[in-house]
Amino acid sequence: MVTDRRTVLVVGAGVSGLTTAWELVARGHPVRMIAELPPEWTTSAKAGASWGPYALAHPRAVEWCKISYLRLAAMAARNDPRYGIRMVDGMEAAKSIVTPPDWAQWVPSFRLCAPGTVPSGYAMAWKYRLPLVDMSRYLLHLAEKLRTRGVETASHRVSTFTELAGQADVIVNCTGLGARDLLDDHEVAPVRGQLVVVKNPGISEFFQEYEDGEDDGGHGYPGEMTYYLPHGPVAVLGGYASRDGESLVPSPELRAGIVERCVAVEPLLAGAEFLADKVGLRPTRTLTRVEHERIGGQHIVHNYGHGGVGLTLSWGCAAEVARLIKEL
Ligand SMILES: Cc1cc2nc3c(=O)[nH]c(=O)nc-3n(C[C@H](O)[C@H](O)[C@H](O)COP(=O)(O)OP(=O)(O)OC[C@H]3O[C@@H](n4cnc5c(N)ncnc54)[C@H](O)[C@@H]3O)c2cc1C
Repeated sequence: MVTDRRTVLVVGAGVSGLTTAWELVARGHPVRMIAELPPEWTTSAKAGASWGPYALAHPRAVEWCKISYLRLAAMAARNDPRYGIRMVDGMEAAKSIVTPPDWAQWVPSFRLCAPGTVPSGYAMAWKYRLPLVDMSRYLLHLAEKLRTRGVETASHRVSTFTELAGQADVIVNCTGLGARDLLDDHEVAPVRGQLVVVKNPGISEFFQEYEDGEDDGGHGYPGEMTYYLPHGPVAVLGGYASRDGESLVPSPELRAGIVERCVAVEPLLAGAEFLADKVGLRPTRTLTRVEHERIGGQHIVHNYGHGGVGLTLSWGCAAEVARLIKEL
């Protein structure tokens, strides 16, 4: 690969910023980062987190999801626990008869379930294998790898992109929800999420209810969701997704509803020891924004507005940022 020595300043150290920085370092760019919050305090650290495409409005989204799947699967294949990634089998189930999603054509081991094996309350289901990520571990490992490759991170809040003008050949904006204020972008909106972490009672496969985006006013976020993800000694139960404010205080009522819905699918979860709540704000946008803009002569490449699929889109969007920079 031909190296590109143009300097890049990445703003934001969530999954989008770290992945993008990694991709750019791999292409030879000298990279620096600025982030108000360190990786472990970002929304990214609150994610469940599975590779799971849903609420995808961008025409390139499925392609980006595929790139991410392949990268995460390749990392999982290293069997290095520092990455915090494992390939896990499981089931997705739909309440009505639907056409399986586009990505079913290429996700390895995708198969429809025989009618007798579909959980009660669901009309159809399919099985496949997906990358499951322990985000705290994964983000810290990406950050540590970047440090060892010479990427320095400054910890402070940026008020405008104008204040960064001239600090690098290209600035990459990976600020998630922060882009709303930085760019006065009214298309960015928080969708609150809550998860429940319990001691794993012996679950080794994931389950998630299929969301087709039709019961939710068209924005792709249904309110109540049902999924559980086995992470070795703990299991993460979900979920919730609603535009009902920006409070990060967990709701006991939501927690009880999440547990009840998961137990209805997997009785083993009844009585599982409660460990923690996780609450975060998904940085949604009408369309995920991955594009170039010039602000006062400075090249900016945006990479924000990933909603509930920031991990799922991460490597695809990072590759797109690298492509946009190459074309400048
Ligand atoms: C409960 C929940 C469950 C989820 N589950 C999944 C899942 O299973 N799979 C999946 O793919 N996605 C999931 N998501 C979505 C995913 O977490 C987000 O899409 C993703 O975290 C967005 O990452 P990001 O790096 O763009 O933003 P963030 O993680 O929010 O990072 C933004 C970074 O920018 C910095 N920043 C912001 N503004 C400024 C500023 N002005 N100056 C300097 N720095 C700034 C922040 O400090 C931070 O470092 C979930 C989200 C939630 C809330």
